[in-house]
Amino acid sequence: MSEQTYAVIGAGPSGLAGARNLQRHGHAVVGYELGDDVGGLWNIDNPRSTVYESAHLISSRTTTEFAEFPMANTHVDYPSHRELRAYFRDFADAFGLVERYRFGTEVTRVQPADDGWAVTSTGPDGDHTEQHAGVLVANGTLSKPTIPPLRGEFDGEMWHTSRYKRAEVFAGKRVLIVGAGNSGCDIAVDAVHHAASVDISVRRGYHFVPKYLFGRPADTLNQGRPLPPRIKQAVDSRVLKLFTGDPVRFGFPKPDHKLYESHPIVNSLILHHLGHGDIRVRRDVDRLDGDGVLFTDGERGDYDVVVLATGYHLHYPFLDPALLNWRGPGSGTCPDLYLNIFSESAPNLFVLGMVEASGLGWQGRYEQAELVASYLTARHRAPHRAAAFEARMRGPRPDLSGGYRYLGLERMSYYVNKDAYRRAVRAEITKLGMLP
Ligand SMILES: Cc1cc2nc3c(=O)[nH]c(=O)nc-3n(C[C@H](O)[C@H](O)[C@H](O)COP(=O)(O)OP(=O)(O)OC[C@H]3O[C@@H](n4cnc5c(N)ncnc54)[C@H](O)[C@@H]3O)c2cc1C
Repeated sequence: MSEQTYAVIGAGPSGLAGARNLQRHGHAVVGYELGDDVGGLWNIDNPRSTVYESAHLISSRTTTEFAEFPMANTHVDYPSHRELRAYFRDFADAFGLVERYRFGTEVTRVQPADDGWAVTSTGPDGDHTEQHAGVLVANGTLSKPTIPPLRGEFDGEMWHTSRYKRAEVFAGKRVLIVGAGNSGCDIAVDAVHHAASVDISVRRGYHFVPKYLFGRPADTLNQGRPLPPRIKQAVDSRVLKLFTGDPVRFGFPKPDHKLYESHPIVNSLILHHLGHGDIRVRRDVDRLDGDGVLFTDGERGDYDVVVLATGYHLHYPFLDPALLNWRGPGSGTCPDLYLNIFSESAPNLFVLGMVEASGLGWQGRYEQAELVASYLTARHRAPHRAAAFEARMRGPRPDLSGGYRYLGLERMSYYVNKDAYRRAVRAEITKLGMLP
C-alpha cells in the first residue's frame, strides 16, 4: 500500500502477529529480534527466554493458538515449549515472515523523528539508525525480574526464576520457593524430584484450577456466552471445591479475594505434592537469616537455595517513559494506553502483548495487531473512520474488567477480562471496517 516501513520489535507471538497483520494489510515490515530465531520466550535458546525445560502451556492448545493457523504439529492439550517453538517457526515460514526480520539485532533506542520514528539497533553489522513510519513494540512482559527488597543476609544461593532452566540444580538441596504464581508452582513441583526438601512461601491465599476438569482441559469448558461475574464465580468456585478441595486444608492461607479477581494458579500437581508431604507451605518471608529464613509467623527454616518466584515488571528500556504515559504507583505501574495498545502522546507507536488475562491466548494478541493494521489502513483508505477512532481513543476508556474487581497489585495493573477485552478490540476492528 505504501513505501513506508513499520518496525516490529520482537519475534515472539505478539511480534509475529504484528508482522503478519501488517503484511495482510499490505504494509511493509522490518522486524528486529535480539535472539537468533522466532518464538519469543518459547525459544528456550533466546537469551531473554524465561521458560524452563519442563515448561508447557498453562492455557490449553485450542484456546491459545492463532485462529488462522491451528497447531498441526501436535495434538496434545498442553504442548511443551519445544512444540511451541516449532509452531511459531511453522507460522513464520508459512507466511514468509522470517525474511522480514533481522535476527541477533537488539533495538536500543526508539525516538520520534521528523517524519516518523528513528529506530537504533545493534546487531551483527554494528549500530544503525533507521527511519520508519511507525513502530510496533512487542518485546514481551516477562523478562525483567521483580526482586523484592528482603531484609537480612542469606549465606546460600538466591536467584530469580528467570534464571531457572532445569531441576537438576536442586539435587540434594533444601529449597525455598518464594511466591506461588504459575512459575513458582511449576518449579516447586519440578524440585520435588531432586531436592532434599521443598518449601513454598506465600503472602496470600490462591485459587487453584486443575488442568483437567471432567476429563477435558479446564479452560475449554464454559466457552460461549460469558456468565455474569457473580454467577461464574459462584458456579466455578463450587466446581473447584468439589474437584480440588479447599487449599486451606493443604496449608495455604484463605484467599483474600474471590476467584478470578487475581490470576488463578493452573496446576494439577501442587496440591497433589502438598498432600503427599513433598512440599510444605510457609508464610511470607520476614527476613533472611544466614543459613535460613525467618517467616512472618515466627517460624524458621534452613535452606541451601532460595528461588524468588516474584514475577516480572514491564520494561521498555529503549523508549522515553513519557511516550507511554506511565501511570504512577498509586494506580499501578504500567503505561496508560487505549486498549493497552495506543498511546495518546505518541502517534504511530503501538504496544502489542502488554496485556494479561486468564485465557486471552495468542489470538487475543493477534487481534491487537489486527486492530493496529486496520487503523493504519484506514488512515489511507477511510480517513474519517480513522479520525473517529482517534476521537474514541481520546474519550472515556471502556471498562475492560468484565465486572470483576481485580486485586490492586502491580502485576494486575494491566490485567483485563478476556471476553470484555476481545469484545472491545473486535468492535473497533469492525468499526474501522478495513478488510485486508
Ligand atoms: C512458563 C510460562 C508459561 C506460559 N504459559 C502461557 C500460556 O499457557 N498461555 C499464554 O497465553 N501465555 C503463556 N505465557 C505467557 C507468554 O508471555 C506468552 O505466551 C507469549 O510468549 C507472549 O508473547 P510476546 O511476543 O508478547 O512476548 P515474548 O514471547 O516474551 O517475546 C518477546 C520477544 O521480543 C524480543 N525482544 C525483547 N527486547 C528486544 C529488543 N530491545 N530488540 C529486539 N528484540 C527484543 C525477545 O527476544 C523476544 O523474542 C507463559 C509464560 C511463561 C514464562
